[in-house]
Amino acid sequence: MIRKTKIIATIGPATSSKEMLKKIIQRGVNVCRLNFSHLEHDVAKEIISNIKEINQELHMHTAILADLQGPKIRVGIFEKPIKLKKGEEVIFSTKRKKNTIYISYINFAKDVSEKDKVLLDDGKLALEVISTNKKDTVVLKVIFGGLLQSKKGVNLPNTKISLPCLTKKDKEDLAFVLSEKIEWVGLSFVRSANDVKILKRIIDKQKLHHKVIAKIEKPEAINDIDAIIEAADAIMVARGDLGVEVPSHKVPVYQKMIVEKCITQGKPVIIATQMLESMTENPTATRAEVNDVANSVIDGADAVMLSGETSIGSHPLKVVDTMRKIIRDVEKSDHNISKNRINKAVINDERLLTNAICSHACDIAKSTGAKAIITVTYSGFNTIKMSSYRPSAFIYAFTNNHTILNTLSLVWGVRGFYYDRGTTTDQTIKETKEILRDGNFLKKGDLVVNLASMPAQEKGMTNMMKLSKVK
Ligand code: ATP
Ligand code: MG
Ligand code: MG
Repeated sequence: MIRKTKIIATIGPATSSKEMLKKIIQRGVNVCRLNFSHLEHDVAKEIISNIKEINQELHMHTAILADLQGPKIRVGIFEKPIKLKKGEEVIFSTKRKKNTIYISYINFAKDVSEKDKVLLDDGKLALEVISTNKKDTVVLKVIFGGLLQSKKGVNLPNTKISLPCLTKKDKEDLAFVLSEKIEWVGLSFVRSANDVKILKRIIDKQKLHHKVIAKIEKPEAINDIDAIIEAADAIMVARGDLGVEVPSHKVPVYQKMIVEKCITQGKPVIIATQMLESMTENPTATRAEVNDVANSVIDGADAVMLSGETSIGSHPLKVVDTMRKIIRDVEKSDHNISKNRINKAVINDERLLTNAICSHACDIAKSTGAKAIITVTYSGFNTIKMSSYRPSAFIYAFTNNHTILNTLSLVWGVRGFYYDRGTTTDQTIKETKEILRDGNFLKKGDLVVNLASMPAQEKGMTNMMKLSKVK
């Protein structure tokens, strides 16, 4: 059975060998994520080339997502963990000085004000600013204490951070990423649509086709969410940092709001962080984790993501199996998004033709029980649009562009096929149906909907659909 909801796995020491990559891809991983917070370029290069080889060997279209660290703030390196006691005062400095805790954010003392919260290690420890010399030193009081380890992350939920979205390290990583055939680039700590536009402009200038995923993990991003969704190619609900930057009890409602907005705007959306976290160590997931994955699938996310579970976890294969099975059971049930989504009226914009055809293709597939919606695509746009209507039929996308095939691996309900023949619409419709029948994706008598653009040689917008039976 084909799945509609896609699986993303973060690659790390537990999964970076070619053998392991092959195994997780065969078990259902559609997108491999490389987190540049934790990777050297030479290691990344090797992983990328392994994935490309596996794609060729298995005739798969696994996508690669390169995740840039962004303006993540960290504390320095200590000889041994520092014990912070409740009520105690500690000094943070942007210079490496004795008896102070180093913080990697150069404008820290200038940007914070009295009473600002400083959260350490994903919010496990909390401090409050007592005073700042507005230069390099800040005195803080410990609100929740604990053991602070080297290089842990720092979140400043009340402070407007004056760091650029692309740091020096990000620019170096980006240069590497853009020199490789990678389909998706993740931008961390996006604060406004402008952050996304800056990255997209860099990519456009080099006439490259890398697509940008805006990671939503800051309260500012929630406030500018409509414009960010519009500017980005896809969205990631990055619940790790988001749950520290805003109170974690607000995250479930934000998740649902973001998924709904993305589906409506036709942008793929990913749910990330702690999905099956306990399986990093344990061979089975908690009931709450299983429910979390299932609910994300019910909400209609394009993809669910694994982080530490597959990068450093002890059971990377089991965790992929677990995720695949949860998705399968939800999709088989009456709780799947196709059955429950009522699509809103088609918006009268410059894409009116594609929108209207896709919306009605979804309706016709639902009402006739058609087994497939077949698209032919040059940019992937019509296929992503088709997916956003969340049809009950599978979407089979045909293209002669390998990058587009890989890109579509992230997208809900889509399976891509390489196809470079079809000179006329009639021939393409006939051949794509035959390919699917011969590959056992369809059988004789199945109803299918073909989307096309006529005349074919103009390669224009989708402007027709055809309902027919497989011969
Ligand atoms: P982000 O905020 O971007 O998610 P993260 O630090 O939470 O960053 P994840 O990619 O979510 O990192 O992975 C979870 C953990 O797995 C990390 O904290 C890190 O310890 C480990 N990890 C991830 N990728 C690698 C890698 N390539 N090599 C070593 N450890 C890794
Ligand atoms: Mg993050
Ligand atoms: Mg993470």
